[in-house]
Amino acid sequence: MSEFTNVLLLAGDAVLYFVALAALLRARGRIGLGAFFCALGVMHFLETYLASILYVALPLGIVTSPGSTVLFTGKLMLLLLLYIREDAVVVRQPIYGLLIGNVLLFALAYVMRHHTLIPLGAERAADFGFLDQMGGLMVWGTAILFFDCILIILLYERSRAWFGDHVFPRLLVSGALVLTFDQVAFFFGLNMLTGAGLPVLIGGWVAKMGAVALYGVLATVYLKYFERPLGRRAAPRIWDVFDTLTYRERYEDLLARTGCDALTGALDRHSLESYGRRAVENAAAAGRPLALLLIDIDHFKAFNDRFGHAAGDIMLKRITAEIMTAARVSDFTYRFGGEEFVVLADGIAGDDANALGERIRRAIAALPGGDPAGRVTASIGVASCANDASGYDRLFEIADKRLYEAKALGRNRVIGARPPTGESPVRLVKN
Ligand code: GH3
Ligand code: MG
Ligand code: MG
Repeated sequence: MSEFTNVLLLAGDAVLYFVALAALLRARGRIGLGAFFCALGVMHFLETYLASILYVALPLGIVTSPGSTVLFTGKLMLLLLLYIREDAVVVRQPIYGLLIGNVLLFALAYVMRHHTLIPLGAERAADFGFLDQMGGLMVWGTAILFFDCILIILLYERSRAWFGDHVFPRLLVSGALVLTFDQVAFFFGLNMLTGAGLPVLIGGWVAKMGAVALYGVLATVYLKYFERPLGRRAAPRIWDVFDTLTYRERYEDLLARTGCDALTGALDRHSLESYGRRAVENAAAAGRPLALLLIDIDHFKAFNDRFGHAAGDIMLKRITAEIMTAARVSDFTYRFGGEEFVVLADGIAGDDANALGERIRRAIAALPGGDPAGRVTASIGVASCANDASGYDRLFEIADKRLYEAKALGRNRVIGARPPTGESPVRLVKN
């Protein structure tokens, strides 16, 4: 009898937990999201505590902890709800907050044990053994939680392909898959630390699946009756969601601040404008030759149209690697625009610069293209200092004009400097 009471109590816990947190979420417009985040954080602590000491018996010999069943499952479903109503930029804040908070808790518990304690009597003694056990679980659980949060959101997005805009089955499937993964992973740690046996694994899993179903219903009701309709939002690309959840754009900002282009790793246009311009001016002032090669990939739009932008991006990375390998180590490769690159080669001009252009053209043409019959090719305009001009802007203008000429003449070629004899421009065309 008491086992059925436990089921009812667990359901009661879940409804109470969900209603309180969903109310805070609903009120975000008026009171801000901070209240929701803080309440979620407090419950998160309680959850770990309960998961290590409070287990209850359910029918069919199932044993589970309200910490895992009610609070952990509920937290994941609420984070998913937050993502559905807001977006990845918002939901990544509590994901990282919980991760950092847990690590801090563990670190503080470790430091605090070194205090000299005032005895307070046997029943009020600090239980460091328990703290150790909880701390170990905390570290393990936190690491899994981090993956769970990201995974449940990605699965929710992926499940659009299976269920369209029907929220309920998407909540159920993403919740069930992630919590199955979580149960197995968490059990691994629990078993190591406490020796918990198989019944805990299976019982916990059954209870979590029940909780997913209950929370799925509650979340669907909440979305339908307590939020304004979502409207049709364009489906985000899963990788974009992943990049946002993992703060990748910050990493890309960092790269941009170091002067590198995030996609290809070449130097970026900003670097060209500052360092490139200075390099030309320095070479001109010192009377040293310097070549500027402007490279534009041929018919790249058609490549994208045929193979997709993702394949186009991969190809751009490979092209960049080819350019960098064909150039000398002392040359600088910049991504000037989408599929346009600039190579600045200090110390060479004229024929040497044309030869460098030719080396790069061949390397790109030798790349296996996406097209079995075709190749990826590039047209290159070469101008050098001081043969053609001594200022950066003029040098660039001449290289650009020659690139245009290379395109007009049929692409996959290098147009270089006009020889001093005044003959027509050197054309190095490969079969
Ligand atoms: P051509 O230069 O031979 O005249 O033809 P094109 O098709 O290369 O023409 P254009 O230079 O005008 O177009 C460049 C195309 O490059 C447009 C865009 O589809 C593609 N592109 C630009 N930046 C990127 C990028 O970062 N990734 C991908 N995949 N494609 C890009
Ligand atoms: Mg272009
Ligand atoms: Mg092009």
